[in-house]
Amino acid sequence: MFCPKCAENTYVKYTENGIIRRRYRQCISCGYRFFTVEAIDSDSYWDDYKNITKEYINPPKKEKTLFDL
Ligand SMILES: [Zn+2]
Repeated sequence: MFCPKCAENTYVKYTENGIIRRRYRQCISCGYRFFTVEAIDSDSYWDDYKNITKEYINPPKKEKTLFDL
């Protein structure tokens, strides 16, 4: 995770476990402190992700446009 202020790397100071996992982070460079949240998302999101990845690897054949002639 990158620092929202200076885009440098951050490290995890403390993790709160639960249904939602909260990580307290601090920037290595500027010392800015913030927290991130990790939560379970639904399966449908994973299906969308797989479809998007498939399209990216095997892009659908493009129709010819006026610029290709
Ligand atoms: Zn920073």
